[in-house]
Amino acid sequence: MTASFDTIILGAGLSGLTTAYHLTKQGYRVLVLEKNDRPGGAILSHSLGEFLCEGGPNSLQETPEFISLVKELGLEERLVFGDPKSPRYVYWQNKLIAVPLSPPAFLISSLISPLGKLKAGLEPFMPKGNPDESIAEFVERRLGREILVKLVAPFISGVYAGDPKALSVAAALPRLKALEDEHGSLVRSLLKGSQKQQGPRPIKRLCSFKNGLAELPYALARSLGEAVQYQSNIQRLEKNRDSSGYRLYLENGTSYDATTVICTSPAYIAATLLADFLPEAAQALNQIVYPAVATVCLAYPDGAFSTLTPSPCSTGGFGHLIPREQGVRSLGGIWNSSLFPGRAPKGWQLITCFIGGTTDPEAQTLSEEALFQTAHRDLQTVLGVAGGAKNLTLTLWKKAIPQYGMGHKERIATILKETEKLPGFYLAANYIDGVALGDCFTRAHRQSATIIDFLKTLQTQLKASDREA
Ligand SMILES: Cc1cc2nc3c(=O)[nH]c(=O)nc-3n(C[C@H](O)[C@H](O)[C@H](O)COP(=O)(O)OP(=O)(O)OC[C@H]3O[C@@H](n4cnc5c(N)ncnc54)[C@H](O)[C@@H]3O)c2cc1C
Repeated sequence: MTASFDTIILGAGLSGLTTAYHLTKQGYRVLVLEKNDRPGGAILSHSLGEFLCEGGPNSLQETPEFISLVKELGLEERLVFGDPKSPRYVYWQNKLIAVPLSPPAFLISSLISPLGKLKAGLEPFMPKGNPDESIAEFVERRLGREILVKLVAPFISGVYAGDPKALSVAAALPRLKALEDEHGSLVRSLLKGSQKQQGPRPIKRLCSFKNGLAELPYALARSLGEAVQYQSNIQRLEKNRDSSGYRLYLENGTSYDATTVICTSPAYIAATLLADFLPEAAQALNQIVYPAVATVCLAYPDGAFSTLTPSPCSTGGFGHLIPREQGVRSLGGIWNSSLFPGRAPKGWQLITCFIGGTTDPEAQTLSEEALFQTAHRDLQTVLGVAGGAKNLTLTLWKKAIPQYGMGHKERIATILKETEKLPGFYLAANYIDGVALGDCFTRAHRQSATIIDFLKTLQTQLKASDREA
């Protein structure tokens, strides 16, 4: 006999677990099926003695949904905060230079030349571009090449491990594009916004937990108990013959029935499940590219850092980003022990380097030893560390972050339109409308509300047809 649920959720990453939590709270029978033997998906925290390494995301920006979830789970005391104003550095011509975080800081920054500042200052007079431009085209047109190369491209490496020439501005940076569409200028809308704002703009804190980000998915999974089932690799989806829902088959042949299904797995997995019913959606899902990224965690004693240049010891900060033009392989590094407390023992600094991404596909073929050596060599170049590194952990994500490439918005619209042909089947993953952890909470909130509406409507229809019978 096949067990039956109101909702089956595919994947116990943050999206799947948060959605399951909301639905369970409302009394629905939910099953989360996860192919791995742990919750968290991309979130992967490791304790190594007194070092706390993150193999995936390092921090998240607080959102109202996140804070209320933390309170409900009783995790408030476990939170740690990083200073959102911690300096971020860009490595440019053999120096680390702080990224200007405000208009006055921009005006005096040595990172951008006077000509580059002048070009950015002319931004309000720039005409609108094509509806689907790349990030590179958009930024170069509005703000100039220097801003693209020194600020925006390294930021895009940091968020998407992506190439600004290949990403759609409307999909990957929708707020920036909306500013142009609504106000005709980014600078003008910034000025209007600061005039309207009463008092200082609230700053969103950077958050994690004492034992790393994985505390959150583990707490969610604990609260869901047996509703989360591990080592459950879903291989096939079937529509029930009487259209009353779906049957999901695991690799080992076990099957489960559900009235509704939420798929939070990456796009290429969703594509295999949908290939038989919705070939057009499957084809569009398969077009979403996921580059490989390695996260390499290394530690150095405080004495390895010079006091003369910015570093986790001398100035503190969030980390550094490296424009591709600078001849350094790593995309950048997060200064974990400077950002959050409790990441390294006293007298040590922990740094996570990112290697790979769209612009360096060969990085995934490097051996572990070569990846550690690359990260160490790049930290010698960028931070001038002296002496050897303590190699801590290395995680190679063969398919790391979905790229919101050209035509992504239209691709997603096609996929979502197609899935409307499967009532009660939903896609809720990070390739749809935001890769940040904060976006996962927003999506989970919205998705659980949609599922609840669907189940309530179905119940009402069933009652009505019972009465008629
Ligand atoms: C290296 C890296 C660094 C990042 N840094 C940050 C950061 O600092 N801040 C930030 O906000 N975001 C960051 N992100 C992005 C963020 O971590 C992800 O977008 C987010 O964690 C996605 O969560 P999810 O639950 O939607 O998907 P996932 O975490 O991918 O979870 C999907 C789950 O589905 C499971 N699954 C897949 N196929 C099947 C199947 N057939 N059957 C059953 N289960 C299946 C997977 O095992 C996985 O557990 C980073 C991502 C990476 C990879």
